[in-house]
Amino acid sequence: MTSSPYILESCRGVKPPGCPRALAVPGEFAAGIEGLLSRAPLPEAFATLGRAPRHHERFRLSLCACANGCARPHVADLGLVAAVDLVVDGEACTGCGACAAVCPDGAIAMVDGVAVVDRERCLGCGHCVAACGTGALAAGPVAFRALLGGRLGRRPRLGLELRERLDPASALELAGRCLEACASGLRPGLRFGDLVFPSDRPTGLPGLPAWVRP
Ligand code: SF4
Ligand code: SF4
Ligand code: SF4
Repeated sequence: MTSSPYILESCRGVKPPGCPRALAVPGEFAAGIEGLLSRAPLPEAFATLGRAPRHHERFRLSLCACANGCARPHVADLGLVAAVDLVVDGEACTGCGACAAVCPDGAIAMVDGVAVVDRERCLGCGHCVAACGTGALAAGPVAFRALLGGRLGRRPRLGLELRERLDPASALELAGRCLEACASGLRPGLRFGDLVFPSDRPTGLPGLPAWVRP
């Protein structure tokens, strides 16, 4: 068996030469993800099967350096998308609206002459930070949006996004738990999404399994 059961697809913003849209994904984080995938064992059910996992049985992790999602994180088994949290200095904000004008997602409004970010709409791309001429808008450290269980094929589905953004260490831990779930739970004919959304199965229960958020 030569075909790895685990696939990493990173957008070109993750590594040099990079992409002008890319947020600064820490090099050690990308290396950590690569290392996890390279060390992950063959799922137990395949170890004695005598064939490599087929394409749809393989676990695909998509790592993207911005919300544009060029490596298709929404239809990956696990999608990790870099994002920044915004900090607004209300004292320094002049209410000029330049940040709101460049936001592709309509996530900033002027309230009483000060920029206010709608955290539900904001995808953490950071475009607005560059547009602010006063320094009132700052980006926090890079974190990751996490999407689980997406897939294409006969029954396509977008991955379910966790509400919270994960710092790099937590994102690595989540990836590790996904790989553990693959190792113990993947069987021929199943996809990772079948482990994440067991309600797809007649005997399954709704909701995310407990291992996603220990
Ligand atoms: S996802 Fe963003 S950073 Fe990555 S290649 Fe696409 S535009 Fe560039
Ligand atoms: S980080 Fe991106 S999505 Fe969020 S408010 Fe700024 S421009 Fe809009
Ligand atoms: S661009 Fe800066 S100064 Fe202007 S409204 Fe936005 S945060 Fe305030």
